[in-house]
Amino acid sequence: MPIYEYTCNACKEAFEKLVFSTTVVVCPACASPDVRKKMSTFGMGGGEKPSAGPSRSGAGCGSCSKGSCSTCH
Ligand SMILES: [Zn+2]
Repeated sequence: MPIYEYTCNACKEAFEKLVFSTTVVVCPACASPDVRKKMSTFGMGGGEKPSAGPSRSGAGCGSCSKGSCSTCH
């Protein structure tokens, strides 16, 4: 599903939104519809992913065996 990053032109709030074709995106901070869509960072490996990728299997960090704890990167 498409999740896009937006920046509000009115208050500069940055947020992410799950967007369908009919979705009207408004700023969650000030409710302005004047928002700018940014390129998705999906696949860039940034942020918090709930599950470890297959390339990390078996690569625990020492304090866990799954490679999915807060100190695994
Ligand atoms: Zn705003």
